[in-house]
Amino acid sequence: MTTVDPHSTSNKPRDIRDHNLKLVLQLFRHQETLSINEISCRVKLSKTTVTKLVNLLIRRGQVLPAGKGSSTDEGGKKPELFMLNREAAYLIAINPGMHHITGALFDLSCSVRVQEKVTGNFYEDYTGSLAQMVLLIERLLTAAGLTLEQVYGIAIGCDGIVDTVNGILRYPLHLRWGQELPLREDLQKALQAPVRIVVDNACRFLGQAERMLRGEDAPDCMVTVTSDNSTGGCVIQNRSFHAGRNGFIGEFGHIIVEPSSQVVCQCGCRGCFETMVAPLRVLQLAKETAPSFPDSPLAQKALAENLTMDDLFSGAGQQDIFAQQVLAPVLEYFAVLIHNIVLMHDPQEIVIQGTYARAGDYFLDQLQQQLSKFQFYQLEHHLVISYSKLPRNNDGINQFLIGAGSFLTELYFGQV
Ligand SMILES: [Zn+2]
Repeated sequence: MTTVDPHSTSNKPRDIRDHNLKLVLQLFRHQETLSINEISCRVKLSKTTVTKLVNLLIRRGQVLPAGKGSSTDEGGKKPELFMLNREAAYLIAINPGMHHITGALFDLSCSVRVQEKVTGNFYEDYTGSLAQMVLLIERLLTAAGLTLEQVYGIAIGCDGIVDTVNGILRYPLHLRWGQELPLREDLQKALQAPVRIVVDNACRFLGQAERMLRGEDAPDCMVTVTSDNSTGGCVIQNRSFHAGRNGFIGEFGHIIVEPSSQVVCQCGCRGCFETMVAPLRVLQLAKETAPSFPDSPLAQKALAENLTMDDLFSGAGQQDIFAQQVLAPVLEYFAVLIHNIVLMHDPQEIVIQGTYARAGDYFLDQLQQQLSKFQFYQLEHHLVISYSKLPRNNDGINQFLIGAGSFLTELYFGQV
């Protein structure tokens, strides 16, 4: 008897088979090897059905025989083992920036095979940046000894507002490239080959990586806030991004947290979260505050302009009054932002990514205290505020690329 989730497929035989294929293939993502018996138990399908499905996956090149297991099945025979063919397809992630365009090529286990970077001034040059993206893709393929036909998809993680459905970069906030840029179509033409191209905000890809890391334990509604000198984020509900009609959802950096501020943001508003918590601004404020703390070694570092955000985070945790005072308004801005996120999206978990993912226990405790002043927060006792679980420095690879690679992996295994 087969067990099929009635919500995820129709009852047509081919749909049921495709659904079951997907279930079996997905098991191989997180398991080095599997026997027919193990698969049968996990997906609750008969061994005969599983054998047929595995044979089909082998014919498609997605699964490989992996020898015999050491333990014995009933009857004393050593079971045949199977494994994912990590090289059945490859994935490319690209992250264009002001001064660098970075790229990485991944296998299906989301391991980086090759990474490359081009350097230049891409701030105002869309056409030049596009040409460099093509060059970067060619360099990645050459370094890995592959052709574009072996690539399942290319994900471009951009800054700003993106129409993901149509692959249009509507408004690149930190790059003067113009507006309504048909990036997917332009890249498709420039590559002169049919290949799946996904264009999205880089923070949404990073959110995807965070969700994937949590696997089955990921909450139904998770929000990520990625905060460095710019801030983005995403809302993931039931494995899907919520981007809104215009792609604005997740642009948490532009929620106004200090309306009376004179600090003007790239978006034209004053007092945006992004500008108020940007490390460049916080370190500048630290320098201005430092003369009032002549006995603080951290204040002296601020005056010498070699203070870092990590110094402030660890100093605050060690009861350094100067560090705590510098971080106090930042904590208030985070509390206002989270307050608004809770009201808008009511998530189970809010994950802080980027620089502030290193802010430590003191910052998180203070944040919880600030939020406890908000009456609804008392009701929302299931809300978890956590720091990113993504590796801090994955061989120096840009985390946005890991996010885009994870997104493509998810896409691949979701579409057998
Ligand atoms: Zn703004």
